[in-house]
Amino acid sequence: MRVVFVGAPGVGKGTQAQRLAVEEKIPQVSTGDILRDAVKRGTPLGLQAKDFMESGKLVPDEVVIGLVREKLTSAECAQGYILDGFPRTVAQAEALDRMLKETGSPGLDHVISFDVPNVETIRRLAGRRSCPRCQTVYHIVYGPPKREGRCDKCGEALVQRTDDKPETVEARLAVFDQQTSPLIAYYQKRGLLRRVDATAAIDQVSARLRAVVHPARTA
Ligand code: AMP
Repeated sequence: MRVVFVGAPGVGKGTQAQRLAVEEKIPQVSTGDILRDAVKRGTPLGLQAKDFMESGKLVPDEVVIGLVREKLTSAECAQGYILDGFPRTVAQAEALDRMLKETGSPGLDHVISFDVPNVETIRRLAGRRSCPRCQTVYHIVYGPPKREGRCDKCGEALVQRTDDKPETVEARLAVFDQQTSPLIAYYQKRGLLRRVDATAAIDQVSARLRAVVHPARTA
């Protein structure tokens, strides 16, 4: 299964991608996680990306396209993948189409758009905490860890992403509206777009997602 997840920051794409990846036994390819890790390790990629990320802007297309190309052509992605946070511009979507053609891949199965009103995404982002070691995501109200401030899986101290601070969230939502939302029409035209109302609780959204990616099982 080759799937793309599209949605504004805070809609729960990452959480749903982590869950679907386990169920389908395919990797979650999160460009945000790859870039954050590069920034943390101070690699050349991280140095290129850092300022853009901290101000809530998109990292330049050519940088992100290069790293996705490397991932998708690796053995780990041979049986499929969930692209979480890529593409984020029409230029990235066109590059992805070219990549799939060049590699003889059968193409995408679904592009899932997660829909949540902005007031709710702002609330979700304000309470989001994540594990810098294993990337597991929590919410202080909707999905708290068992031990306050610590990751359930690896015990690491949870952090708030610097770009989840209110001043940066506004910039990220504006970037989504201007640069990423045109992807909805792009994939709708190609008959790949499926919409999931993601305002509900995590389990309910997972059930809606499953029904969309496996319509025959739930019919
Ligand atoms: P995310 O974790 O998906 O919210 O991404 C965090 C940040 O990483 C974004 O605000 C961007 O600065 C950068 N980023 C992640 N994915 C992309 C992408 N596909 N294109 C450009 N920048 C990206």
